[in-house]
Amino acid sequence: MKCPECGFEGPKPAFRYLYSLGLDTPFSLRQCPKCGTWLAVNDLKEEVAKTVPPKEPSPIIKTAGIIEDEMKEVAKELMGEDA
Ligand SMILES: [Zn+2]
Repeated sequence: MKCPECGFEGPKPAFRYLYSLGLDTPFSLRQCPKCGTWLAVNDLKEEVAKTVPPKEPSPIIKTAGIIEDEMKEVAKELMGEDA
């Protein structure tokens, strides 16, 4: 997989897993180990589907609820593109 922001390339596990976009979607939220950008990753294709600009400086301090809300938006967008 390759980070579209900084060009970092590595296997999927190199990108830190943050959150699943839902059981009914193949997408998960991961973080680039080099630049820290959030990436919506298609786990089936093992490719970056979308970069997700964090609305706050550190995603670590976010509650799961806030991330979940954002992920629902992202998932909706991605599934829409796929349809
Ligand atoms: Zn990066």
